[in-house]
Amino acid sequence: MNNYNELIQKQRSFFLEGNTKNVSFRLEALHLLRKLIKDNEQILMNALKQDLNKSEFDSYLTEIGIVLEEIRFTIKNLSKWVKPRRVKTTLTGIGSKSYIYPEPYGVALIIAPWNYPFQLAIAPLIGAIAAGNCAILKPSELTPNTSAFLAEMIKKNFPEEYIAVVEGGAETSTALLKEKTDYIFFTGSVQVGKIIMEAASKNLTPVTLELGGKSPCIVHEDANLKLAAKRIAWGKFMNAGQTCVAPDYMYIHKRVKKEFLQLMRESIYELYGQNVIETGNFTKIVSEKHFNRLITFLNNGEIVMGGKYNSSKLLIEPTVLQNVSWTDKVMEDEIFGPILPVIEYDDLSQMIKVINDRSKPLALYIFSENSSVQEKIIDNVSFGGGCINDTVFHLSSPHLPFGGVGESGIGAYHGKGSFDVFSHEKSILKQTTAFDLPFRYPNTKNALKKIKWFVK
Ligand code: NAD
Repeated sequence: MNNYNELIQKQRSFFLEGNTKNVSFRLEALHLLRKLIKDNEQILMNALKQDLNKSEFDSYLTEIGIVLEEIRFTIKNLSKWVKPRRVKTTLTGIGSKSYIYPEPYGVALIIAPWNYPFQLAIAPLIGAIAAGNCAILKPSELTPNTSAFLAEMIKKNFPEEYIAVVEGGAETSTALLKEKTDYIFFTGSVQVGKIIMEAASKNLTPVTLELGGKSPCIVHEDANLKLAAKRIAWGKFMNAGQTCVAPDYMYIHKRVKKEFLQLMRESIYELYGQNVIETGNFTKIVSEKHFNRLITFLNNGEIVMGGKYNSSKLLIEPTVLQNVSWTDKVMEDEIFGPILPVIEYDDLSQMIKVINDRSKPLALYIFSENSSVQEKIIDNVSFGGGCINDTVFHLSSPHLPFGGVGESGIGAYHGKGSFDVFSHEKSILKQTTAFDLPFRYPNTKNALKKIKWFVK
C-alpha cells in the first residue's frame, strides 16, 4: 500500500505558506481550470464515451456544461464570498463589532464515484479551490479513461503541492484515509460513506458525504401526465439510470396508471428510440458486476416495456416494471440502472407512511397540479431535495444547495454552498478599548441586578 504522507505534508506546507489564501491565486486557478476543460473538451468526451458509452450531448449537458457554469458562477461571486461578513452585536456587547471570517481548512481530500466521473470530481474541486484549500482528488477506478484524463490534466498544469490526482481503487482511498487531512468530501454509496465517516472520526476530520438511496417519484391523479411521462423518462433513463438523483421507483395513482404507462412508452421511444440495444446510442452499465446485478431485477413484477439487454455491450434498454411489491429484490436497495418499478397507490397518507418507514431519500419528485398535495408531501417527508413537476433539474441550479439527509448524506454543495462546505466560519468579536463596561466584572456593585436589566 502506498504511503501518501509525503504528498499531504507537501500540500500542508504549501498551504501554511499562505499561497492559496490569496484571492487572485484562487481566481487564476479557476480561470486555468476553465480553460483546460474547454481546450480538452473533445478528449474528455472521448474518455467518457470509452468509459460509459456516453453520447457527446449527454457528456456536455451533464458533465462539462454543468461544471463550466459552476466555475463561471464561482468566479463571478468569489470576491464577495471571501470577505469577512459583519453580523449584529447584542446589547451586552455594546462597543464591539462582530464578524464571520471564512477560512480554508487546509488539505482537502475529494473521493469521487464513476457515474458522472468528471462532474463529481471537478464540482467539489471548484469549491475547494474557491475556499482557498489545497486538494487531493481520488477519481473512481471504474472509469479509468476519465480518471487518467483528470490525472494528466492536473499533473501538467498544477503543482502537486497545490492540487494532485491520485488514481486507484478502494485500497488507494484506504491509504489516503489513513493520513490526516483537514476535510473529506466523499461522493458514493451509503455503504462506503460509513467507512469514510469511520476513518474521518479517527482524526475528527469534518466530512461531506454525498450518498444515494431510493428516490421516489410520485404521480398524482391530477398530474399533467404527458409532461410527467416525458420528464420522468428523461430523468430516469439519462445515463442509463446511473444517476444518484434519478427517480428510483414510481408511485402512481391507481386511477391514472394505465394512461400514464402508455404515455411513458411513447416518451421513451421519443427520447431514446425503439431499440437502443441495436443502435447502441445509450449509456452502458459501468461493469459486468453491476450489469449482472441489474438483470436479476428483470424478473421482479411484470415487464410493461423494455427488458432486452446485451451482455457483451453491457446495455440494458429502458425498462418499466409493474405489479412490484416492497418485498421484491428490486425494492431493497438503490437500483442505479435503467429499470423503473411502478407501484400504485390510492391513499396519499398511506403512501407517505410507507416512504417514511424507510431511509430518508436523496431526492423526491411530485407530479401534481394541486398545491395542497405538493405541500402535504413536502411537509411530511424528509428528503435531500427534489422537484415539483420535474425530475433531476434541481441539482443544476447554483442557487439550490444540493445534498442528502439522514442516510442519503451529510452537507450540501453547488454555488456558494461549495465555497461554504470547504470553509470554516471563524467568528470574531472586535472589542472597543475606548471604554470598558463594568457589569460583567464580579466586583461591580449590583453587578447581577445590572446584568439582569440588560439580559431580559
Ligand atoms: P462507491 O461508494 O462504490 O465508490 C465511490 C468512491 O469510493 C470511489 O472512488 C471508490 O474507489 C471509493 N471506494 C470504494 N470502496 C471503498 C472503500 N472500501 N474504502 C474507501 N473508498 C472506497 O460508489 P460508486 O459505485 O462509485 O457510485 C455509486 C453510488 O454513489 C450510488 O449509491 C450513488 O447514489 C452515489 N452517488 C451519490 C451522488 C450524490 O451526489 N449524492 C452522486 C453520484 C453517486
